Amino acid sequence: MPELPEVETFRRYLLRGESGSPSILGKQIKDAELLWDKTLASPKPGEFKDRIQGQFVTGIGRRGKNLLIQLSRDTLIIHLRMSGELIVEEKTNPIGKHYRVILNFTDKYRFAFNNIRKFGRVWLIEDPNQVIGNLGPEPLADDFTPELFHQILQNHSRQLKYFLLDQEMIAGMGNIYTDEALYRAKLHPARKTDTINSTETYRLWVCIREVLQEAIQNQGSSIDWMYQGGDYQKYLSVYNLEGKPCKRCKTPIKRIKIAQRSTYFCPTCQPLPE
Ligand SMILES: [Zn+2]
Repeated sequence: MPELPEVETFRRYLLRGESGSPSILGKQIKDAELLWDKTLASPKPGEFKDRIQGQFVTGIGRRGKNLLIQLSRDTLIIHLRMSGELIVEEKTNPIGKHYRVILNFTDKYRFAFNNIRKFGRVWLIEDPNQVIGNLGPEPLADDFTPELFHQILQNHSRQLKYFLLDQEMIAGMGNIYTDEALYRAKLHPARKTDTINSTETYRLWVCIREVLQEAIQNQGSSIDWMYQGGDYQKYLSVYNLEGKPCKRCKTPIKRIKIAQRSTYFCPTCQPLPE
C-alpha cells in the first residue's frame, strides 16, 4: 500500500516530470474522462467533468498519503489506497486497461490514474480541508517537533503500532514504515504510547524522519502494490522478513498481529517492558 514516500515520489514526478513525460504544472485541462465512476468520491460525474474543464494546474502538493493537485479554482485530491499509479503520457498512447480517470490537457499530453484494484479515490473540491482537515501532523514538516510528538503520545494510551497507523495522530505512515521506524528506535510495537519517555520519544521522532527520508531518496518501496519504481525494499530491516535474522542481533524477526495488521519486529532489540 502506498505510504508517504511513495505518494511523495508521485508528487515529484508530476512536478518535475521525467524523460517522455513533462511536468503537469501550468498545463490546462481540456476535458476529463471517467472510466470507473466509483473512483470519484465527490462531486457527481457530470459536475466533475463540467467543473474541471478549463482549469490550470497551479501546484502539486501532498498531505499524508493524499496527493493534492491545485487547480485554478479547485483542488483535485487523489488517494491511491491499495494500489495505484499516476501517468503522464502522450494522448496517442493506448489507453490502459485499468485507467479510471483521465485528464486530457490542451497540449499533446494526458494525465491518467491507473488503479488495478479500484480502491483509489478522487475528490474535486474547493476547500481541501473538508477531506484532509482531520489529519495529524506531517512527520517531515518543521512544525512536527519532538515536543509536539511527545504531547500527542502522552495524550493517548494506545499501542504504538496502532497509534502510528492512525492518520489523525500522524499523517502518512502505513504498515511498512511504521514497523521500520519502531525497529530502528528499538521500541516494541505493542508499547503503550503514554509509557514512552522523552528520550524514547526523541529516538522515535528521529527514526520516523530518517526512515521516511531514506525511502523518499529511493523512490519508495516496490512491495505488494503496483508501483514498480522504488528501491527501498532492498533496505528494509523487518517488514515482510519473518524468520530472517535481525541485522543487529541475529534473533529471528517475529510477526504478530496488531490492529489486524501483520507487524514485524525483533523480540530481542524491541523488548516489551514488564
Ligand atoms: Zn535484534
